[in-house]
Amino acid sequence: MVLFMQVKISDRPAVDLSQLRFENTFVAELPADPVLVNRPRQVHNACYTRVEPTPVAAPRLLAWSDATGELLGIKRPAANDALAAEVLGGNRLLPAMQPYAARYGGHQFGHWAGQLGDGRAITLGEIIAPDGRRQELQLKGAGRTPYSRTADGRAVLRSSLREFTCSEAMHHLGVPSTRALSLVGTGESVVRDMFYDGNARPEPGAIVCRVAPSFVRLGNFELLADRDEHAALRRLADYVRTNYFSGKSIEETFQEICQRTGELMADWMRLGFVHGVMNTDNLSILGLTIDYGPYGWLEGYDLEWTPNTTDAQGRRYCYGNQPHVAQWNLARLAEALLPLIPDQAQLQAGLTLYADTFSAAWQRALAQKLGVSALDQPGDDALVGELFRLLAEQETDFTIFFRRLATPTLESLQPAYYGDLPSKELGTWLKKYENRTKSEIGRVERMRSANPKYVCRNYLAQQAIDAMEQGDATVLERLLLVLQKPYDEQPEHEDLAARRPEWARHKAGCSALSCSS
Ligand code: AMP
Ligand code: MG
Repeated sequence: MVLFMQVKISDRPAVDLSQLRFENTFVAELPADPVLVNRPRQVHNACYTRVEPTPVAAPRLLAWSDATGELLGIKRPAANDALAAEVLGGNRLLPAMQPYAARYGGHQFGHWAGQLGDGRAITLGEIIAPDGRRQELQLKGAGRTPYSRTADGRAVLRSSLREFTCSEAMHHLGVPSTRALSLVGTGESVVRDMFYDGNARPEPGAIVCRVAPSFVRLGNFELLADRDEHAALRRLADYVRTNYFSGKSIEETFQEICQRTGELMADWMRLGFVHGVMNTDNLSILGLTIDYGPYGWLEGYDLEWTPNTTDAQGRRYCYGNQPHVAQWNLARLAEALLPLIPDQAQLQAGLTLYADTFSAAWQRALAQKLGVSALDQPGDDALVGELFRLLAEQETDFTIFFRRLATPTLESLQPAYYGDLPSKELGTWLKKYENRTKSEIGRVERMRSANPKYVCRNYLAQQAIDAMEQGDATVLERLLLVLQKPYDEQPEHEDLAARRPEWARHKAGCSALSCSS
């Protein structure tokens, strides 16, 4: 008889950053750009260009994620650890790091944009984490690369802090996401025109160390296909399926990408997360939330809401459109894979699987949000339909409503309303809801584990930014702590679960944002 045991690949104790052992499979297994000149240019027949971070004036560690540190088996550096700040600020490379910028393209707002690539992100290398999984460490804001086009390769503190905070918050909400290890202030300023109104001004610069098994996006495949670089396309497909999809065939890998993306969209929708810029270069091949820019969380429930002021006209990437856009994006990936998968039926099957996965996951999520074991009874569709109609009619905070629905009374739900509570209609609906759920066992527990109390609201992130710009890290530290347990009550932090205050409704960064970062 054979006994199978769960073997932990390595039980190495946490080490200092400087003791990490780096590997570089992306660099070793994929075609490199033979040109090493670091200036903006078109690159051919390559998946990446070797490029080093540009040093910054005075790197200083502003924030650290213990959860990501633990994932990687790295000890939290002391606040004054100069080596850590230098490595994470891009001023010093550790032995065996082979930094690179990836080459990719993408469809932006529905139009093919040609070559984009890592214009300010530079991967330092890969490590094998204590759980045996490979993780890439990447600095965002680390300086110019051949893919920077006309931009400066840098990032401002406000957008970096937002990415740092939300990637960790997403993970703790149970949503697949790229992670963030550190936030480093560069001691340099970066000039940005935040409102796109001709008033550029210097802002503090920062660098986030992002972490993911892979940062490959749909756009990495699209660019190679667009340029008819089929040998490189095949190598990228082989690299991805071998390293991240257990050696499945390309067909099966595409289908799994579709499935993971379907699950991800259900997660975003159940939580009221709006990514804001779902271009194909901002969708991960691993089904992770990636590239946090002008994202937001639904406050008033509104299918057409987008936090991205750049998209206010077309609303292509608004809350209610996300599942549809994801499928549109996957169709672009399917086209890019045609040279490798001539059987279109296989690709069509993937797109259908996306739709089926999303529908099933969304139905499950709705059931959980309402605290029922399944939405399978006559009248359930009408009950859900009426609820969403009600939520849209009066400005209702999505997060607070579902959290407080665990106690289904008008009084309990009052704090979810930005204006008047529709007592009559809501009262009628609550009676139906109580009737429907009276024999459901475990309703409240189910709801508590599906409806977070705390999300990374834009105005909370903005308060952390304002404080950090004044040299005060405590606001961010408290926010990070609370967002680590988003489904817990944490009554001492009740103020962070409140409705967006009225002063924040139209204040820059507190609800809507531009793409400036
Ligand atoms: P995004 O919409 O932020 O994901 O970025 C789209 C493209 O623009 C990517 O290729 C980025 O690398 C590039 N990009 C954005 N900001 C900068 C910057 N400040 N410097 C260089 N490239 C940038
Ligand atoms: Mg991007």
